[in-house]
Amino acid sequence: MDALIDLHTHSHCSDGTLPPSELVAAAAARGVAVLALTDHDTTAGLAEAGLAAATAGMQLIPGVEITAGWRGQEIHIVGLGIDAASPALQQHLATLLAIRRTRISAIGAKLARQRHFGGRDPAQAVLRDAPVPTRMHLARELVAAGDASSAQNAFDRWLGRGTVGHVPQEWPGIDAAIAAIRAAGGHAVLAHPHRYKLSAGALDNLCTEFRDAGGAAMEVSLPALSPNDASRLARLARMHGLAGSMGSDFHEPGVAWRPLGRFAKLPEGIEPLLPRLLGQG
Ligand code: AMP
Ligand code: MN
Ligand code: MN
Ligand code: MN
Repeated sequence: MDALIDLHTHSHCSDGTLPPSELVAAAAARGVAVLALTDHDTTAGLAEAGLAAATAGMQLIPGVEITAGWRGQEIHIVGLGIDAASPALQQHLATLLAIRRTRISAIGAKLARQRHFGGRDPAQAVLRDAPVPTRMHLARELVAAGDASSAQNAFDRWLGRGTVGHVPQEWPGIDAAIAAIRAAGGHAVLAHPHRYKLSAGALDNLCTEFRDAGGAAMEVSLPALSPNDASRLARLARMHGLAGSMGSDFHEPGVAWRPLGRFAKLPEGIEPLLPRLLGQG
């Protein structure tokens, strides 16, 4: 049987729940042979994950998932095979962290003005504790304080679009994200392209601009992908000459439809990104 590969995962250094070493152990236990840790806008977990992977005899690909903007949409670009010590990359991540802190703090201020919160600002704990604060941290905080029944309920009630705590955010563009990844010697991968609310034409334009800016690959093999989306993604990758990547976007154990690891089989006519990451391509 083919080896399991997972090139898109999160630890508690961003909005996942497992420490990097436990993520690596969980992946190893499932039979994952090559794992990339790709936390949102941070490389903080890579050193710990690298040590754990060496112990487990597993190959760790250093990665990051960079938040970017394109035509008013939030786009995620995974960087794989990065050198986390790159000053250009770290400078870009520092910019994103500042944006995140400002945004979470603005959301907290809006919530604190609601009668329900009586002046209490739920973002304070998140800003104090989360190295890279995301709205998921805030959602968990709202659940812990009894302000929401679940993370999803927190988004539906307090954080999501159309709710009182929604603060729209403009992110640095995809060009800047790709440039930062390439400056760190990494390969830029367009993450979960089917999840963006873009028309077919706009998604096509995004792929063109992504490729022109130096993007290398896109994710084509993900969990719970409908056959229709799978063939759309495969067609886009072929059309734009992008290599194929695969990953689970794992955040926490117990999500049955998002287990760690994908079999290293890509749709026909798509070049795998993996050999390039392993220095064989
Ligand atoms: P942020 O990057 O700060 O916008 O936080 C994004 C994280 O919050 C994502 O990685 C998701 O895990 C989660 N999230 C965002 N929007 C929603 C939503 N409408 N419902 C549930 N979770 C969401
Ligand atoms: Mn996430
Ligand atoms: Mn993402
Ligand atoms: Mn992700």
